[in-house]
Amino acid sequence: MSSTLDGRVVLVTGASSGIGEATALALSAEGARVAVGARRADRLASLARKAPGEVLALELDVTDQESVRAAVAATVEHFGGLDILVNSAGVMLAGPIAGADTAEWTRMVETNLLGSMYTVHAALPYLLERRGAVVQVSSTSGRTASAGNGVYAATKFGVTAFSEALRQEVTAQGVRVVVIEPGFVATELADHITDPAMQAAAKNIGASMRTLQPEDIADAVVYAVTQPEHVAVNEILIRPTDQT
Ligand code: NDP
Repeated sequence: MSSTLDGRVVLVTGASSGIGEATALALSAEGARVAVGARRADRLASLARKAPGEVLALELDVTDQESVRAAVAATVEHFGGLDILVNSAGVMLAGPIAGADTAEWTRMVETNLLGSMYTVHAALPYLLERRGAVVQVSSTSGRTASAGNGVYAATKFGVTAFSEALRQEVTAQGVRVVVIEPGFVATELADHITDPAMQAAAKNIGASMRTLQPEDIADAVVYAVTQPEHVAVNEILIRPTDQT
């Protein structure tokens, strides 16, 4: 990383909507060559059309290790290496623990926690070669758990734990690890909640405040990855001003 991203190669997961999409566009505008991964190929294709720079669209399911390895390999083959991995893929299937559909727990753990671990594992050899960076999109729920988001919070606490261990393992080799912890951002994230009360609560919270926009988080990512090499921005907590 340097103060310019010109020519740098970035892989962004969860880039078909929300924070991942905005981050991919912001990094592209800064001159990066960006590979974007998610399951909805049509959304990636439209992102590639509107990005200012070169974008490689990759169908990717982060819960599938083969798919993850293939996406990293395709990125490296196409662009000749990898400098920055942004892990934004995630799901938030909020709901109380009692009586929960545990298939939703499995999906959150496999996507938010194992999925980001798989991408780090696959990308790390290339990031080590280039003294690159890993950006983990965690959450305020990675710092504080609350009723109704126990499993989602557990995945995000897990991301933080994994990221700190990773930081200690690779910082001497020049790889920087950044954890971004957004509060409420207006995206599709809450649309997938199946519990009607939690779905309504999420909508009410969104309507009650000036929420963050995905671009606000993209700005934080750009800030973190454009610092001089001796500066490691390890954590950014960013909430809407109106969020208590
Ligand atoms: P979105 O729902 O808009 O984006 C989620 C992204 O994750 C989509 O691109 C989706 O793509 C992708 N995704 C989901 N499952 C998979 C999978 N198995 N494989 C690959 N990609 C997958 O929500 P956000 O942009 O808000 O969420 C992005 C990240 O930000 C998440 O990690 C979330 O936890 C975190 N976050 C969000 C906050 C918010 O308030 N919105 C607050 C704090 C953190 P597709 O379905 O096409 O695969």
